[in-house]
Amino acid sequence: MKSFQLIDARSPQEAASLLNKYKGKAQPLAGGGDLLYLMKDRIEGRQIQMPDVLVNLESIPKLDSISYEKGKGLKLGAMALVSDVEANKTIRERFPILAQAAAEVASPQLRNMGTVGGNLCQKPRCWYYRNAHLPCLKKGGSTCYALEGDNRYYHAILEGGPCYIVHPSDLAPALIALNSQVALVGPKQSRTIPLESFFVNTKQNLYQENVLKPDEIVQEVSVPEPKEGSRGFYLKSRIRKSWDFALASAAVQMEIAGGVCRDCRIVLGGVAPLPYRAKDAETALKGKKINEQVALKVAEEALKAAQPMSMNAYKVDLAKTLLKRAVLQAGKV
Ligand SMILES: Cc1cc2nc3c(=O)[nH]c(=O)nc-3n(C[C@H](O)[C@H](O)[C@H](O)COP(=O)(O)OP(=O)(O)OC[C@H]3O[C@@H](n4cnc5c(N)ncnc54)[C@H](O)[C@@H]3O)c2cc1C
Repeated sequence: MKSFQLIDARSPQEAASLLNKYKGKAQPLAGGGDLLYLMKDRIEGRQIQMPDVLVNLESIPKLDSISYEKGKGLKLGAMALVSDVEANKTIRERFPILAQAAAEVASPQLRNMGTVGGNLCQKPRCWYYRNAHLPCLKKGGSTCYALEGDNRYYHAILEGGPCYIVHPSDLAPALIALNSQVALVGPKQSRTIPLESFFVNTKQNLYQENVLKPDEIVQEVSVPEPKEGSRGFYLKSRIRKSWDFALASAAVQMEIAGGVCRDCRIVLGGVAPLPYRAKDAETALKGKKINEQVALKVAEEALKAAQPMSMNAYKVDLAKTLLKRAVLQAGKV
């Protein structure tokens, strides 16, 4: 294990100031379920340095809170545990798509450790990236090994290139389908942006999957109250039933009246370097009465830009099927 200094932060601002003080050499530590593994495995390269300092977010009071206000919506502190999101009664009743996504994350033990902020900021599961002996493109090398190598599972079919990772988070697609905002805190300033714009693809940034500055942390995710008649559903497919990352997943949130979709947001996971918002599929669903044919058309629209790699073409049909089923489930009254 790489040795490191652990510093307890007492507030989000102090965490950001510490990151600023040790710029480039420090990283926030949440549950540690991803970061400590990467450090143990010494996953580093010209563009990825292992931190010398970990800024502990667990010591920040109330950063793990989950609160709800009727009419305003839900607030999830960055340190809220995935298992608490899964078990929270209000989330299960009012934001079922989020509880479903949380229940799909890893195993019960990992959900007891993993946090909302850590889940959104975790690194990809590409096995070339996670192999310390391979200087892949994302670590600062010159080759994306997934192009010529085994790209069956955790590689892109949409928006891939020059690196072909997929985003691993289950919470992200559900939270984006719910139109969430994320609050980011820096040493001097805070900003709130749509969670959808928090993530970037590998064309925009090869080395980082989001827009966080080196001295910023995620403080909170806020989820607006879904409109009357709004329903959501999250479905995921993975290699192992017990626990595993998504081969593909589909998050659908829609407003329905008289069996007709008035508005919707559709996001796919496990298929692109970022949670993939399927806007053409949303257009195909809006104003339509939900039935098998419409759901099929929506799925076709969502995947029409797919460019599978040598071994993962099956993910196109897999994602279509998940999306079709999620639309039909969300549309059930
Ligand atoms: C075997 C295994 C299987 C898993 N399966 C799944 C799965 O199926 N689906 C899924 O969604 N996840 C899965 N995960 C991920 C897991 O659930 C956690 O989300 C993950 O471990 C990261 O959460 P953490 O709180 O432990 O973050 P950490 O490991 O502490 O941090 C992860 C990254 O986020 C950064 N970070 C953490 N908090 C913040 C913050 N507030 N602001 C800014 N940056 C921050 C850290 O610096 C680090 O870069 C799996 C993990 C493992 C080890």
